[in-house]
Amino acid sequence: MSTERVEAATLVFVDALAAEYFERFPSELRPLEALPERIELEPGMGFSINIKAELLGGLTPDDLGFFCKWNYAPRGGFQVPRWIRALGGALDGTQFTSRLAHRAFSRVLGVDLFTIPFRELELFAPAACPEAYASSFPHPTLLSELGFRRVVHGRRMRRDADVARAALQAMDDGRHTYVSLVEPDAVGHRRGPGSEGMRRALAATAHQVASIWEAHRRHRRGPFILFSDHGMAPVRERAWFDPSEVLGPPGRSTYACFSDSTMLRFWIHDPEIRTAAEEALAALTWGRVLDGEERRRFGIASPAHGDVILLADEGVLPVPSHVGGKHPRAVGMHGYHPDLPSQRGVVAWWHPDGTPSAGELRSAGLPLAGDDRGAPRIRARDFSVLARTLIRGRPT
Ligand SMILES: [Zn+2]
Repeated sequence: MSTERVEAATLVFVDALAAEYFERFPSELRPLEALPERIELEPGMGFSINIKAELLGGLTPDDLGFFCKWNYAPRGGFQVPRWIRALGGALDGTQFTSRLAHRAFSRVLGVDLFTIPFRELELFAPAACPEAYASSFPHPTLLSELGFRRVVHGRRMRRDADVARAALQAMDDGRHTYVSLVEPDAVGHRRGPGSEGMRRALAATAHQVASIWEAHRRHRRGPFILFSDHGMAPVRERAWFDPSEVLGPPGRSTYACFSDSTMLRFWIHDPEIRTAAEEALAALTWGRVLDGEERRRFGIASPAHGDVILLADEGVLPVPSHVGGKHPRAVGMHGYHPDLPSQRGVVAWWHPDGTPSAGELRSAGLPLAGDDRGAPRIRARDFSVLARTLIRGRPT
């Protein structure tokens, strides 16, 4: 039997599988406890589009040249037909119709406009880069360099259950396989990380992962690795800060501000406005401006990502937001400071030739954070090194 097994690795990605869930939902996650090694993962700053590039390619926002899905466009922003701008602009002030208009025009234009005011669209542009797991991602990744087959959501596979089923069918294939499950993220945002809905979602996810692992052991010789990108915090407060109330209307010669779910990124052209913005932000009680040292640490030092970046405290949603409007519905959120325990994801692994411990991998040169007394932890940007090490074989 063992001679028929193929030499291939299986990587299962679970969006927003928080490290904390293993304590909060132990019986639901028991099937995953069977993976012999598990450590916490420190996400990068920001959201999935960047964290996935860190995980799969070791690429920070500074390496990629973009941070978050929408960015300030100094040489001209997203072009929309004039009639859409006029019609949308007229609806900008109205919450309900504006949301409907954004949804309709996003479909027409084939780009997610979230809730960006139509009159501000000319200041910003969407990141011209696909997700890091896509085969069209322009930089080398673990998946592209090792020739991974990718089993991910699409038109035919909308649910995690469909993806898991397709993964089981791929197990006798000789190629390394990447599987992506995403429902815990959606449920975390919609229902909250401590909710009953989360409990059910995690039970389903654990079952799917366990069945893929079982099939992997039956058909494959190679490591099985489970990993996630970040955790999730409950939203406890919505904090109002509309920059135009303090700085006047945004524009190409004054300033632009993009409000993501947890961050306000400012690009400022006028020194007086910069001073006014810094004073206004320093007075806020629910967030703080990231300093240069911290921005370097998280690979977001380039001023292209914002002259000033305000990061909200854990559980705070700034409103109005360019991605959630004046009344965002999320009750769970990530993208807070990567050092917060709530934001940590996990990496767990198994190897058929005897699973190396985190300590052994560290001795073999893997950059793991945490000292000998603390639990070992890996940064998102170092994950691909860990995965490559396990795929190469048990370190000696
Ligand atoms: Zn999310």
